[in-house]
Amino acid sequence: MLPASLDEAVDALAAAPAAVPVAGATDLMEAVNAGRLRPAALVGLGRITELRGWRYEDGGTAVLGAGLTHARMDRPDFAALIPALADAARTAGPPQVRNVGTLGGNIVSAAPAGDTLPVLTALEASVTLARADGTREVPVSHLLTGLDPVRPGELLTWVRVPLLHAPQVFLKATGRSGPARATASVALVLDPARRAVRCAVG
Ligand SMILES: Cc1cc2nc3c(=O)[nH]c(=O)nc-3n(C[C@H](O)[C@H](O)[C@H](O)COP(=O)(O)OP(=O)(O)OC[C@H]3O[C@@H](n4cnc5c(N)ncnc54)[C@H](O)[C@@H]3O)c2cc1C
Repeated sequence: MLPASLDEAVDALAAAPAAVPVAGATDLMEAVNAGRLRPAALVGLGRITELRGWRYEDGGTAVLGAGLTHARMDRPDFAALIPALADAARTAGPPQVRNVGTLGGNIVSAAPAGDTLPVLTALEASVTLARADGTREVPVSHLLTGLDPVRPGELLTWVRVPLLHAPQVFLKATGRSGPARATASVALVLDPARRAVRCAVG
C-alpha cells in the first residue's frame, strides 16, 4: 500500500493490522534480509509529503515530520534551528543511507546506536503517535525505555522539539574513520530558560 496522505496511511494500518509501516527501509530491509522480519504487508510512507517538512508551534517548539531524512536535517537552515540534531544526522551512516533514512524510522527502530536518540532525549522531545481511533503524545524518553512503547497499528507522525536557542552538541565515537555506527555517543544541551544543562548518552 502506498498512501498519499497521513489519513490514508492511518486508515490503511487500521484496515490491515498486520501491515508494517516502511519509510526509507534502511533498517527494515536489513531485518528482512537477515530473516528477523517477515511482514505480512507494507504501508509505504514515501508519498506522504506532509511528513517531510517542519513547522513552528506557539511556545517555541519545532514540529518535525517523521519523514524528514537525515540528509535534509543536515542542511544549514535546519542546523541553525536544532544544531545537535543536525550534528547527529550528518553522521548517521553513508550518504546513500542518509538520503533516504528518516527521523521517524530512527526513533521507532530505537537501536542502541541510533544517532538522533540521545539528542531528542536531552532536548526532552516528544512524539505524536496516530491511530484510526485517535492520537497520543509520548516523551521520546518513555518510548526508548519501554515505559510507553509504540503500539501495533500506530504511526509516528510528528516530533515536537523545544527550541532552546543556546549551545548544544552531539558527538559520537565509532572506533574507525568514515561513516559508521556509534560505539558510544553523547548529546549535551544548554537550557537557559530553566537554568539547566542536560546530557544523554547513547
Ligand atoms: C549501512 C547502514 C548504516 C547505518 N548507519 C547508521 C548510523 O550511523 N546511525 C544511525 O542512527 N543509524 C544508522 N543506520 C540505521 C538507519 O539508517 C536509521 O535508523 C534510519 O533513520 C532508519 O530510517 P528509515 O526511514 O530507513 O526506517 P525504516 O527502515 O523504513 O523503518 C525502521 C522501523 O521503523 C518503523 N517505522 C518507520 N517509520 C515509521 C513511522 N513513521 N511510524 C511508525 N513506524 C515507523 C518501521 O516499521 C521499522 O520497524 C544505518 C543503516 C544502514 C543500512
